[in-house]
Amino acid sequence: MAPLPPVVRVMAASVRIADKAAEIIRGILSAGDLGIVEKTGINDLQTEADRSAQRCIVANLARQFPRLTVIGEEEPDDRPVPDHWLVEDGADPRAERVDCPEQLAGVTEEQIVVWVDPLDGTKEFTQGLLDHVTVLIGIAAGGRPAAGVINQPYFNYERPELPQGRTIFGLAGGAVAGFEPRAPPAGQRIVTTTRSHSTGLVQAALQALQPDQVVPVGGAGHKVLLLLEGRAHAYVFASPGCKKWDTCAPEAILSAVGGRLTDMHGDELRYDAAVQRLNSAGVLATAPGVQHDWYVQRVPQEVRDKLHAVA
Ligand code: AMP
Ligand code: MG
Ligand code: MG
Repeated sequence: MAPLPPVVRVMAASVRIADKAAEIIRGILSAGDLGIVEKTGINDLQTEADRSAQRCIVANLARQFPRLTVIGEEEPDDRPVPDHWLVEDGADPRAERVDCPEQLAGVTEEQIVVWVDPLDGTKEFTQGLLDHVTVLIGIAAGGRPAAGVINQPYFNYERPELPQGRTIFGLAGGAVAGFEPRAPPAGQRIVTTTRSHSTGLVQAALQALQPDQVVPVGGAGHKVLLLLEGRAHAYVFASPGCKKWDTCAPEAILSAVGGRLTDMHGDELRYDAAVQRLNSAGVLATAPGVQHDWYVQRVPQEVRDKLHAVA
């Protein structure tokens, strides 16, 4: 049997690694000491769960794939991790079985950049809105998202009779797994947006779109899950603030089912290692079958003029 393409191997390992990170996050919350630190301010928090989950993900990726470039949201911390944080059973067999699209099959380990958000939705995590939390591992090649893993550690947390937590994954231009893709309701416009980082620009864009419903929730990963599962038509964030580690994994999976994720001008985001971390021209994502360009054009020019893309 031919060896699996590195993009598929990294994705299949990341499924297992994200499960381990989710376990660590749940353990820290249930132990009760979040160790909250303000990074740039009260709206930019970090907890022990963010720090530990990143250490876990980075250590496991480095051990299995020493030639990858890995960029995480939190400060690098090279202290050795406890043995029980290491994933021993390698890779997820479902993820290893997916067909690799031709354009990704030749990508080498050296060419891959992995964008890690160890805990997306930290503000909501500290407020007990637990299903807003995701672990995001985005696998980029040639500056564009190639594959993504989204783990939702507290999926179903309000329904303890159901299985707890889930992992979804997908290859851009290929297969997805771990969720049921659904189209949003026809004849309506449901827009999801930030609940903890709103600005005048965000509100001006929302107002111009005249949605039937606005769904303010935490996390870029969680908002893209709403698009994947037909609970919103668009994710609109007409402001800087969101970073490449927030969008890489969600974009890979959304594009695999035919949705789109761009900046507020409708231009592609880049994920090369040297790129600016900030999505300075905002984030606009639409569910499959939704007219992405309609949203771009409907947002007032004076709002878009304030959002500059920086390479
Ligand atoms: P939100 O939709 O507010 O949950 O934001 C999505 C992602 O972007 C989260 O990881 C936030 O932490 C990040 N983000 C958005 N706006 C800001 C901001 N003003 N400062 C720091 N992080 C932000
Ligand atoms: Mg985040
Ligand atoms: Mg984070």
